[in-house]
Amino acid sequence: MRCLIVEDDPTLSSQLAAALRDGGFTCDVAADGRQGEFLGSTETYDLAILDLGLPGMPGIEVLTRWREGGATMPVLILTARGDWTDKVAGFRAGADDYAVKPFRLEEVVIRAQTLVRRAAGHAQAVIKAGPLRLDTQLGIITRNGLALRLTAFETRILAYLIHHQNRVISRSELSDHLYDAAADRDFKSIEVVIGRLRKKIGEGLIETRRGEGYVLRTAA
Ligand code: CA
Repeated sequence: MRCLIVEDDPTLSSQLAAALRDGGFTCDVAADGRQGEFLGSTETYDLAILDLGLPGMPGIEVLTRWREGGATMPVLILTARGDWTDKVAGFRAGADDYAVKPFRLEEVVIRAQTLVRRAAGHAQAVIKAGPLRLDTQLGIITRNGLALRLTAFETRILAYLIHHQNRVISRSELSDHLYDAAADRDFKSIEVVIGRLRKKIGEGLIETRRGEGYVLRTAA
């Protein structure tokens, strides 16, 4: 899952990025409103975390432009303590959730995971996919009740397929949601990892659609 963090406080921004990476996200970071607006409008994200007090362009305007431009990712805004007008303006502009500074990083990570899961249409913290279960908060995937031993990259790919099960996911969609903007995108390594995942989760669950992509098939 790919996340955009727009926050001008470098310490907070790197703490958030580290906590979200531990929580299974790939993160891009913008330190001012203009860069944040640009990235959120031109790149693909599963989630954005947006500070409202930003240099360059205020957070509310960033969010308004994203929504006007058709960006639909869930957005969690960061607001200053006691400023309830900020919160209201944020929701009016299209925010989905908020956290009041100072917040606990764990809280933001759980809210982030919840927003991504809900955006994919899953109400429960544990998402079922045939014999597989993804615990979105712990980042653990089990098969028939037993935890799978997966690398971080395998977990990211399989978690994305579980969120979007029974839908054909193209390799470019997968790579959009797995790599940050600076990464060297590599379809070949996705193919290799899909091959390893098939061995670990059992054949027949991940289908390859030639020229289209992959589908985690859990429904007839
Ligand atoms: Ca700020």
